[in-house]
Amino acid sequence: MKVVETIADLRRLRLKLPEPVGFVPTMGYLHEGHLILVRRAKAENSSVIVSIFVNPTQFGPQEDFSRYPRDPKRDLAMLEKEKVDIVFIPSVVEMYPPQFSSWVEVGKISERLEGASRPGHFRGVATVVAKLFNIVQPDRAYFGQKDAQQLVVIKKMVADLNMNLEVVAVPTVREPDGLAMSSRNIYLKPEERKAAVVLYQALTLAQKLFSQGEKDAQAIRQKMTGLIQKQPLANIEYISIADAETLDELDIVKPPALVSLAVKIGRTRLIDNVVLG
Ligand code: AMP
Repeated sequence: MKVVETIADLRRLRLKLPEPVGFVPTMGYLHEGHLILVRRAKAENSSVIVSIFVNPTQFGPQEDFSRYPRDPKRDLAMLEKEKVDIVFIPSVVEMYPPQFSSWVEVGKISERLEGASRPGHFRGVATVVAKLFNIVQPDRAYFGQKDAQQLVVIKKMVADLNMNLEVVAVPTVREPDGLAMSSRNIYLKPEERKAAVVLYQALTLAQKLFSQGEKDAQAIRQKMTGLIQKQPLANIEYISIADAETLDELDIVKPPALVSLAVKIGRTRLIDNVVLG
């Protein structure tokens, strides 16, 4: 496994890799949710490149960029075991030199849900992912369903800008109690970790109501809200039932519908989702 820090080195090594090349962009502090993407990329491609880059431009000024968990040594050991070909681990100045001034804006779908709660977030995500695609030139790129809106935004960017690669969506990996794996779960104190299962419980409730024939989105949202409000450590930021492609909020659930939520557990903001239909 080669570990490279510069764009020039990455490009040089990329030329020698057997094709097709699968690519998994991450912010590091890897867990099983990341490794499932790597394994899928390994299974479907001759070579795999993983990037580790905590992208400052997708964090708001009051967010956790500086305290976001980092452990590159551990990450590299995990990726070595998965037989990844190249790990790209650039510095912030390598990706954003001082004169940097070009941005990718994906429009309406990036302004709701996470985009409404985190202004500028998807501009940062789309820009760094476009840069990484240009640097790595992958045939396929792998993203987790865990970040459902991110997937929708990236697919739209790839289609709108005619980027020459396939975006592959990979199902969410969960802890045994249902909590979606996330690098940010490390922030949770033991009591908060227990309380955090309420996100999955609310999503499971939505699935159950829908399968029993409930089509009234507001009724489902209200029942999810009631369940989460019983958990004193939880504070709801949003609960959404939206068209899975346009992200337009629905009155009547019409599959495929994306049920997504952002909930603060103590000071830690968690997101999760399921698709109905
Ligand atoms: P991050 O390092 O959080 O930016 O995540 C890198 C990639 O891993 C993104 O495509 C995420 O959607 C994906 N990912 C993160 N957590 C999970 C999970 N629990 N299950 C599946 N994919 C995940």
